[in-house]
Amino acid sequence: MFRLLRITILLVLLIMVAGSTWLTRARSTDWQEPLWVYVYPQAADASSRTRAYVDTVRDRDFAAVERFMQREVSRYGHALKQPVKISVVTPPDDLPPRLPTGRNVLKVAWWSLRMRAWSWWVEKGQPRPRPDIQIFVQYFNPEGKDMLEASVGMQKGQVGIVNAYAGRRMAARNRLVLTHELLHTLGATDKYLAGVGRPVAPEGLADSNRVPRYPQVQAEIMAMAVALSENRHRAATSLREATIGEFTASEIGLR
Ligand SMILES: [Zn+2]
Repeated sequence: MFRLLRITILLVLLIMVAGSTWLTRARSTDWQEPLWVYVYPQAADASSRTRAYVDTVRDRDFAAVERFMQREVSRYGHALKQPVKISVVTPPDDLPPRLPTGRNVLKVAWWSLRMRAWSWWVEKGQPRPRPDIQIFVQYFNPEGKDMLEASVGMQKGQVGIVNAYAGRRMAARNRLVLTHELLHTLGATDKYLAGVGRPVAPEGLADSNRVPRYPQVQAEIMAMAVALSENRHRAATSLREATIGEFTASEIGLR
């Protein structure tokens, strides 16, 4: 009897979580209302340079991301004036749960659950409204030995972690990575060859209909590199040379 009750409760919980995830997703990619994004700038090391930089991060540092989304969303024929509204908010004291190294599926699934619970908890009891998407930006001292871990964006829970370098000179690249992870939270998939960084054709090309196909002029945002030929590419440096290709546009409901 007790066992049956427990299983029933678990099933109900599962259905609730699945239902809310589906609802959030349907709402986020209908492009009818602006998506509210909170950015939490956090110092990921103890260096004074990182800490000093984190204190200077403001909304305006992400205005270029808002403009990029505006430009791309209207290019696909949507009338929405401001598809994404980004606010920098006071971060929690703790850093998010660490992404497991390696590819153990169970470990990653466990981390993903903890990450969702943790990001929910961060907003618990806050007077500000809950955002649609949460992005934790972890800044590192560019002179430190810390290698940047991979950034991540999850559609489940609509939360992302961006590893960034502290410093104005790196700001444009940081915005590019943030936008890439933001689009992951909306259901976009990677379009480059893992480990190599080369854009996958045709999905990873900014303009897959271009004749001749190479060299491409821009970078597809989910490939983050400009394809120069079938096997040559260069990393994109800013949103200025990036675009949302039609494959990504389909994934996030723009087409
Ligand atoms: Zn990615």
